[in-house]
Amino acid sequence: MDVSTLLDGLNDKQREAVGAPQSSMLVLAGAGSGKTRVLTHRIAWLMQVEQQSPYSILAVTFTNKAAAEMRERVEKVVGSNMGRMWIGTFHGLAHRLLRTHYQDANLPQNFQIIDSDDQLRLIKRILKSLNLDDKQYPPKQAQAYINGKKDQGLRPKHIESHGFPIEQTLRQIYQVYQDACDRAGLVDFAEILLRAHELWLNKPHVLEHYQDRFKHILVDEFQDTNAIQYAWIRVLAGQSANVMIVGDDDQSIYGWRGAQVENLHRFLKDFPGSTTVRLEQNYRSTGNILKASNDLIANNSGRMGKDLWTDDKDGEPIAVYCAFNEMDEARFIVGRINEWHDKGGSLSDCAILYRSNAQSRVLEEALLHKGLAYRIYGGLRFFERQEIKDAMAYMRLIANRDDDAAFERIVNTPARGIGGRTLEILRSTAKQQEMTLWQACLRLLEEKVLSGRAANAVRGFMDLIVGMREDTESQLLYRMTDQVIVQSGLKAMYEAEKGEKAQARIENLEELVTAARSFEIPEELEDMGELNAFLSHAALEAGEGQADAFTDAVQLMTLHSAKGLEFPMVFMAGVEEGIFPSKMALEEGDRLDEERRLCYVGMTRAMEKLYITYAESRRIYGREDYARPSRFIKEIPEQYVDEIRMKAKVTTPSFSRGFASQPSAASINQTGFQVRQRVKHPKFGEGVVTNHEGAGAQARVQVNFDDFGSKWLVVTYARLQSV
Ligand code: ATP
Ligand code: MG
Repeated sequence: MDVSTLLDGLNDKQREAVGAPQSSMLVLAGAGSGKTRVLTHRIAWLMQVEQQSPYSILAVTFTNKAAAEMRERVEKVVGSNMGRMWIGTFHGLAHRLLRTHYQDANLPQNFQIIDSDDQLRLIKRILKSLNLDDKQYPPKQAQAYINGKKDQGLRPKHIESHGFPIEQTLRQIYQVYQDACDRAGLVDFAEILLRAHELWLNKPHVLEHYQDRFKHILVDEFQDTNAIQYAWIRVLAGQSANVMIVGDDDQSIYGWRGAQVENLHRFLKDFPGSTTVRLEQNYRSTGNILKASNDLIANNSGRMGKDLWTDDKDGEPIAVYCAFNEMDEARFIVGRINEWHDKGGSLSDCAILYRSNAQSRVLEEALLHKGLAYRIYGGLRFFERQEIKDAMAYMRLIANRDDDAAFERIVNTPARGIGGRTLEILRSTAKQQEMTLWQACLRLLEEKVLSGRAANAVRGFMDLIVGMREDTESQLLYRMTDQVIVQSGLKAMYEAEKGEKAQARIENLEELVTAARSFEIPEELEDMGELNAFLSHAALEAGEGQADAFTDAVQLMTLHSAKGLEFPMVFMAGVEEGIFPSKMALEEGDRLDEERRLCYVGMTRAMEKLYITYAESRRIYGREDYARPSRFIKEIPEQYVDEIRMKAKVTTPSFSRGFASQPSAASINQTGFQVRQRVKHPKFGEGVVTNHEGAGAQARVQVNFDDFGSKWLVVTYARLQSV
């Protein structure tokens, strides 16, 4: 390919960056301005025009998917195989380095990587061996401490404890943990980066080799690098490598995980000869989407400042849909996708983005109901998630004690002292006597075969299951679900863990209560009873499995995982105060800017059409809340927005929950309130009734409050008075 083709499809600024003389460079630019494209073309340029070997190039991306895409794009441009070029994530590249130089890194050849669950388990064991109370030193906290220190490049010997006993103890835990890892040849995620960095510092001959080799280092999404990643690049670059970093301070969304947007400024200081190129033309989104995103992010302070414009037409306005609840929201979204699909659009052009994983459940259900394939990117489907399977296993065992699979799953989750040995005895008894595990328990207890401690633990477990069955027998399904989650100890187990992953698991468990509450037994399963019908429903949904990579499927993902990607049609769901911005961000004040950047990331994923949806009332995490639209919606100037109001306002009672039934007009008012009647609500004050639906416990009225705007309220809860 010749030079001109390499620069084709680039604007002047992009060409300046791609074709710059060999030097270090910061490309600072907003979303969709072609940063990733510039990085890719720069690699091709170095090879084709500057005659650099792929061997001398190191490219760092944020995800493995991005790395694979970049490799593919470069191969397309240069038309040859890039086998020898190092492209990958920080972790991937550092790992490769450690494998090659395991001896210099003081690792056994067959060292193993442990994930954060393994790490936590190990830390728990260590706390026990040190006789530390895990109330005073929660394992999750110790884990965060260790990883945090490693991310800063610190070993125990570097940490000053300033005489604080807690810090001294944490440092000791770190030391004992590290010794244990070293003895066993185990390496955690943070360790991969730290070891790779120490390899540079401790083994000059290794560093020299790679400094000689990598003349060109290129890093995408630089705003989300942490301290150790920055240091690793900086040392490797030394005095002579040319480093090109591309990034956008407005898209820094991992501050909560230790990423430092200041690394952008630091770079300019540490690489004094570097130039800065700003890209200002956006090629991704229509005018309306882009201008709305720019106006939104302008509400943040301390920005590096960027102008972003587009040649593209204004396009359609951003559609903001106010749903009356989460089901209505999901139905709306799936309805739009279905229309698009019917007109020949492909499903994979559509992405649904949400703030927290638990939100996916209602959306999944609506998609399944319509028979549309979907894929959850960077995660599991709701009913496949570990904590949901755990909770369902308790419910299965309550329904049927002989369910061995459920028994195995939860007999020691949370840990209750039923160890591997006891389980072995149970299994072999069950096998020999051809009975189920539950029956084997009964038999072993009867015959007093188990040791005192093991027998007590097993008896405790059986009592728990039997007790839960008795307590919940006559309960509504959702109350039962709630009780099981609490009594089983699952919720407390995750609460004790702390941290984002545990928080997401708790949210999912709470969401299971919502799922139970909105569950309607399909006609064909009516004879089964509610619990069994629900269990089958969950099993079937989990059994559907992810759409495979070759199936055209709607993409579902959290806003965080959407970074760097683009889709013709994007839905941002649940854009409500307390969800997005998240409750945690609202409580901690200083995290609002980061939430706004996340909103900017979400909006700028859209190429042609952006939908933002929120619900007036939402059942999520097992609660029903009245929600206010997110402040971010209000920050988008009206001229870019088309507000869509709900259409089917008058519906039958059964329509208010569940996807099975369709709305049909019910003209008789059974709510006890009349349209245009003036009413008073204890919290929202006075307003006028504008609509009604349903009857009895499902009766709802819509009231336009003087101070709070329009809301749908359930009559039996709302304590409305006429004035
Ligand atoms: P993000 O900040 O979201 O990572 P980005 O700055 O990396 O965005 P790219 O993904 O590289 O942006 O580009 C956005 C879109 O614009 C892509 O579809 C890309 O192919 C296209 N694009 C970039 N530059 C040009 C150009 N000069 N002409 C036409 N299309 C372009
Ligand atoms: Mg990019």
